[in-house]
Amino acid sequence: MNPSDAIGFAQELMVEFGLVEWRAELDKAVRRFGACHYSQKMITFSNDLVALNDQACVLDIVLHEIAHALAGPGKGHGPEWKRIARSIGCSAHRCYSLTYTVGHLVNLFSAAHPAEGLASECARRADRSPVPTAAIVLRTENSMLAFF
Ligand SMILES: [Zn+2]
Repeated sequence: MNPSDAIGFAQELMVEFGLVEWRAELDKAVRRFGACHYSQKMITFSNDLVALNDQACVLDIVLHEIAHALAGPGKGHGPEWKRIARSIGCSAHRCYSLTYTVGHLVNLFSAAHPAEGLASECARRADRSPVPTAAIVLRTENSMLAFF
């Protein structure tokens, strides 16, 4: 999806869910898709990963981050976040191609950190199919390649 369209789209949704003082911006992250910055009242999305994924997937990520903003700090991906996420139409899991995204992240990570073994390990994981979503999320978080 075009990243600047995604920001416009995110901003509209944020207003719709009452986050009128919040804003959406793009960032240069490659290890996660989106982030919620509570103190700055800002949600940011990875320019590269937005560009690589389609609108349906970006929508799910936007709703994911909006749910974080609505749940408030310290709630993580616990039951309260999950309840809010589902109530606003987020799948509360990753809808986009994890394998593709992980592969892309691994490529970026390898380019930035050629000496680290993490990238090749993640590449092997990404090659497995099918991979349980929850498991890959936990593993990626442990590997500091978390998406959100
Ligand atoms: Zn999250």
